[in-house]
Amino acid sequence: MTLGEALAAARGRIDRLDARLLLQFATGCSHSDLLVRPETPVFAPALAQYLEWVERRAAGEPFAYLVGEAEFRGRVFQVSPDVLIPRPETELLIELALQRLQAWPVGRPPRIVDLGTGSGIAAISLALECPQAEVVAVDLSPGALAVARNNAGRLGACVDFRAGSWFAPLAGECFDLIVSNPPYIAAGDPHLALNGLPFEPQLALTDQDQGGNGLACIREIVAGAAEYLQPAGWLLFEHGYDQGAASRNLLTAAGFKAAQTHPDLAGIDRVSVGHR
Ligand code: GLN
Repeated sequence: MTLGEALAAARGRIDRLDARLLLQFATGCSHSDLLVRPETPVFAPALAQYLEWVERRAAGEPFAYLVGEAEFRGRVFQVSPDVLIPRPETELLIELALQRLQAWPVGRPPRIVDLGTGSGIAAISLALECPQAEVVAVDLSPGALAVARNNAGRLGACVDFRAGSWFAPLAGECFDLIVSNPPYIAAGDPHLALNGLPFEPQLALTDQDQGGNGLACIREIVAGAAEYLQPAGWLLFEHGYDQGAASRNLLTAAGFKAAQTHPDLAGIDRVSVGHR
């Protein structure tokens, strides 16, 4: 089979762009190879890989899990079904954290913790973009921590990874910034059945094990944060489109000042912030 025939074999079954990129990943060919030399034969192992990926993609498996990587803020992160696939919305969490780090008084390195780090995108991006910071990252899932450690190593980020639930591995420590992209989809939300979400770790998406209204983990993080924050520290967390008001209420009830919600690029409430 040739490159052109391989692309044609996926037509009507999966998205055209996905087909092209899967063929590029499987063969190592570039986009221009596909355009200029469609008659190039595809060798058997690459063809078998590509056709398997097309089947799995047609069955709804996310592209990132097929090729084992995804981009976030211009860096390539390895992903596996142990971790959530990076979402562009999460860039807002990083931007808001970096804004607070910019004004950092010299003298003492800022300390940051990322709760529920998953593939490590937040912790690693912050460690690389604010090199003076000391960054700790926590996750309950040993599989996720293995992926995150591997990403930190590959990208050259210095992050101290800890296994455990939220604040459990942080006893007696204090941070300037706590960031988190916790599971915030309510149990039974129809979104959990769409867009490849059934392939992603439910532990990272929904709080169904903790009560399931979507706010259980956020509530736990907000309630615990003050004890682990410096007097002028910040808590920043991602949440769902309809959780802004509830998040601000939780922040205010926990004694945070200036509780504020920031919209993502689509104009949707996405990250809430509180100042201790
Ligand atoms: N934003 C993700 C989604 O809607 C959910 C991420 C999360 O639960 N932390 O698919």
